Amino acid sequence: MTKRSLGDLPRAALDGRRALVRVDFNVPLRDGRVTDTTRLRAAAPTIAYLRDAGARVVLLSHLDRPRGPDPALSLRHVVRELERVLGTPVEFLPDPATGAAATRHLPRGGVALVENTRFWPGEEANDPAFAALLAALGDFYVNDAFGSAHRAHASTVAIARLLKPAVAGFLMERELRHLGALLAEPARPFVAVLGGAKVSSKIGVLRALLARVDELLVGGAMATTFLVARGLSVGGSLVEQDAVEVAQALLAQAGAKLVLPRGVVVAPSLARAAERREVPVERIPADCAVFDIDTATRRDFRARIVAAKTVFWNGPMGVFETPPFDGGTRAVAEALAEASAGGAVTVVGGGESAAAVAGLEDRLTHVSTGGGAALEFLEGKPLPGVAALDDA
Ligand code: ADP
Ligand code: MG
Repeated sequence: MTKRSLGDLPRAALDGRRALVRVDFNVPLRDGRVTDTTRLRAAAPTIAYLRDAGARVVLLSHLDRPRGPDPALSLRHVVRELERVLGTPVEFLPDPATGAAATRHLPRGGVALVENTRFWPGEEANDPAFAALLAALGDFYVNDAFGSAHRAHASTVAIARLLKPAVAGFLMERELRHLGALLAEPARPFVAVLGGAKVSSKIGVLRALLARVDELLVGGAMATTFLVARGLSVGGSLVEQDAVEVAQALLAQAGAKLVLPRGVVVAPSLARAAERREVPVERIPADCAVFDIDTATRRDFRARIVAAKTVFWNGPMGVFETPPFDGGTRAVAEALAEASAGGAVTVVGGGESAAAVAGLEDRLTHVSTGGGAALEFLEGKPLPGVAALDDA
């Protein structure tokens, strides 16, 4: 079902009106400072379009997982960086219950940011009364928070029933278009690459992708769980014991479609990187752990990726935060860029994988801003935040 988009609204319907825009400003903070502005920049086109059309822009977002009001997780910390990204002052509204007057006094093209919606219990309860408070801050609703679309919360779902029109912003639209294309009629071969830490949180997407792709390449700690499922010893590697059985079932079902590493990079510990070496998966020493895929596997994965016409990637191939164990992840990122240059559609799911392709974005078709939301979408689950928007 396609959804009505911001671009479908006549510009005259925006002029002077208060646009209440749900964005995803769930940014990383260190000592009260934004360390990565990707999500702020990702929302900028929708905000600029609204300002240009004369709207008064009121932004709503959550930040992290506070249990009640928590100064460390206030969206105040985001204001200065947001002003820099947008090139305009941003008024901060600390309380939605008393913010309506301020939104009416915003100049045309002015921008306000409401406090972290999760400071109020009504947000995660999808409480209509809290949604009504939020709805009083705008004259129409725009959801540009793809990364939060898999959660039925007051600022993503209940509000869309109260405040009309309720439309998709440009980022939301772009995410749905690129991820939707993977489900619709992907050009083949379609290769998916999955990694990261856990099998259990990605069983749904593993199953769904296995049904759609030509090959599924598995790396990261996810692969060690599969190696255990194959009966191999993995030393002190991170393994999800509870998921070994389901990994066995997936292996049986997938056959040759599921491609595991041939060899891995091992070391006694992350700190003892100088002692790292490459070994075949059949010979992982008992006193070592797996921290990356080896050179032979990088070559194998690269060959399969560059031969593909569609590639989806989620999850790092190793402990990429700790060089030199970022080599496998970097190799896969480069292979995706190479596939793109050859005309393939290349899409990266959010989370750590998005960080792993930092600097390569321009050479890929799409880097999703939503980790969990992108995976649930690819599983074929309806996203409540999308479903709640007006149909086109
Ligand atoms: P994403 O956010 O991209 O979906 P996950 O959250 O599932 O990925 O997993 C990311 C984490 O997996 C990273 O912090 C990385 O260090 C870890 N990881 C990857 N490979 C290994 C490994 N072999 N051993 C331990 N941790 C790993
Ligand atoms: Mg993650």
